[in-house]
Amino acid sequence: MKEKGRAFTLFLLFLGLAACRAFQSGPTPSPAPTVSPQQHLIFHNGAILTMDTTRPEAQAMAIAGDRIEAVGGDAEILALRRPGSVVVDLQGRTLMPGFVDPHTHLLNDAEQYLEMSLAEAQQVALENGITTIGDLYVTEEFLQEMAELAKNGQLRLRTSLYLVATDNCGRLQGEWYKEYAPTHTPGEMLRIGGVKIFTDGGTCERPALSYELQAGEGLGDLFFSQEELNSLVAEAQTAGFQVAIHAIGDRAVEQAQTAIAAALAGQPNSYRHRIEHNAVIRPELLPRYGEIGIVPVIFGPYPVCNPFGPPPPPEYQSWEWPWRALLDANPGLPVAWHGDDPFFGRIRPLDDLYSLVTRNEVGEDGQVCESPTWQKVHTITAAEALPLMTRNAAYALFRDEEVGRLAPGQYADLIILSGNPLAVEPEAIKDLEVWLAMVGGRVEYCAAGREAFCPSWR
Ligand SMILES: [Zn+2]
Repeated sequence: MKEKGRAFTLFLLFLGLAACRAFQSGPTPSPAPTVSPQQHLIFHNGAILTMDTTRPEAQAMAIAGDRIEAVGGDAEILALRRPGSVVVDLQGRTLMPGFVDPHTHLLNDAEQYLEMSLAEAQQVALENGITTIGDLYVTEEFLQEMAELAKNGQLRLRTSLYLVATDNCGRLQGEWYKEYAPTHTPGEMLRIGGVKIFTDGGTCERPALSYELQAGEGLGDLFFSQEELNSLVAEAQTAGFQVAIHAIGDRAVEQAQTAIAAALAGQPNSYRHRIEHNAVIRPELLPRYGEIGIVPVIFGPYPVCNPFGPPPPPEYQSWEWPWRALLDANPGLPVAWHGDDPFFGRIRPLDDLYSLVTRNEVGEDGQVCESPTWQKVHTITAAEALPLMTRNAAYALFRDEEVGRLAPGQYADLIILSGNPLAVEPEAIKDLEVWLAMVGGRVEYCAAGREAFCPSWR
């Protein structure tokens, strides 16, 4: 009995140690960058695009500490001024939420691909107006690196990590991810977002299509049978994870939709399971996103400057990058944009916004590559595109109660632009500049010569 009792105590101790180890080796929840709670800031005389449906536009905003205090007209917000308030005149310029990129490789590929340090990659993001990201290729080793960065207070972007259950060739990576539970605590700079699964080619082998891209080459590569993918998704869901499934070709999209539907078994998608890229969608698959409640995460530019391959046969052209049709088939669905940086042009969401609105692409050198006319039918408006890049992208990361829209209680994550993307000509969107990027009330980037727009705390 005594022996048994001791064994049990040892067993409990072991369990305790195991739990402790998992917690300590995971990212310790890190606080938002701190500003003094006493700091009080007022922006006024601007065009404020809130992305908040209850009040889409405003002229002024007050920020207390790291949060938004109030959004409204100039007179009502200026009345909140108190001793020590810093007041910034926007001079008619545009202020909006910082861009949220829910699928990027900016950090995991910083060193190898971009030849940048993690600090430099974050700086590039901030200079281009990105304040929150999801990093979509996180190995256990990279997870440790990110945890270290956050612990040292060097994480400047709100970052959600997606742990790889497969590599980009569909090779299973084991169940290591289950040791690191997803977290959703408001204010965390570093967070476990979910699990990444690759279901077809695109970065390894070829996308799985219903037609041959080049005669004699076959229909592309699915990495799993439907049953295998179903069990991968179900397993991650049972462990409490959101899944983000890479699917480029229409056969991969269909398989991913079916696997998510099977895991949800008719319940609402409270896990916010996502499908990444969705580059080629067969028309009958369009309404399935809304029916199942899946969050589609889509590209800005169609690759015209450096095409992936030959154009699709004419009868399949309407399946490619069909964002107009995707939005029309799924009213109210939180469709999200992604940059998938650094693999698609410059790390510049304003280029992607320009692409969504015109279908043209801005190349690495800044030159415009005109898209084919059959792509032009898929333009969406700037008013439709901006929520994809802010509010909906935050939803895809479970951060919509923190960032992605400007409303009282949200974190003060915002940017100032040289002009209003809703008011300028579509051609001018690519020429807009980011003058300020703020994260949690803290100025993280101020463009040279634009210091008047960047509050300095005294
Ligand atoms: Zn990616």
